[in-house]
Amino acid sequence: KLITFEGLDGSGKTTVMQQVVQDLIPRLGAQLVTTREPGGDQLAEQIRSFIFDHNNALDPRSTALLFAAARRQHLTRRILPALHNNQLILCDRYLDSSLAYQGGGQQLGIENILEMNQFATEGVLPTLTFYLKLPVAVALERIQTRETKQQNQLDQQQRDFYVRVQTAYDKIAANNPQRMVVIDATQPVAVVTQKVLAVISQQFAS
Ligand code: C5P
Ligand code: MG
Repeated sequence: KLITFEGLDGSGKTTVMQQVVQDLIPRLGAQLVTTREPGGDQLAEQIRSFIFDHNNALDPRSTALLFAAARRQHLTRRILPALHNNQLILCDRYLDSSLAYQGGGQQLGIENILEMNQFATEGVLPTLTFYLKLPVAVALERIQTRETKQQNQLDQQQRDFYVRVQTAYDKIAANNPQRMVVIDATQPVAVVTQKVLAVISQQFAS
């Protein structure tokens, strides 16, 4: 089974995933695989670095293609083998990030990005997706705290970008109620973690 974590930067995906893993490891051991996107495989991580190193020079469509290439590589090298081994895969971001960031944020269109990723993934979708949702203002506050160290100023343009990402995530969640579980990410990490664990044990009774 493939379980993905989605949401804006600052929504707590990585932290919550770590907590969930700590709880599941004693029971699942080697049955559990944790990974992330973009990246999760040596070459996919190189594509990730390439994207972030050249972000300002890359055309948005090139960026979208590179994210899809990284996804394809990660899928064939990590995710599909683990699925064939009947392992439980927890992945920090997947397809929905591209739909939200490139489709919504970069305004390339959710449908366009979905179509392109159809080619990349051959239709492999998560069994379950946790969308950690929080107001854009709260996300920006959390990111700002992170970035103050780098002396970065968030401008209106960035705010608008995150609003478009958020709107796209909401649309994706509304269109995929069978696999997407929306969780209020303004709650403490421990509470979010418990909710995630409750859904996982309810769905997989393992
Ligand atoms: O998940 P993580 O915080 O490591 O993601 C790194 C950055 O990549 C984030 O700032 C996110 O906004 C961006 N990203 C993106 N499009 C994706 C996936 C991630 O712009 N498809
Ligand atoms: Mg993270």
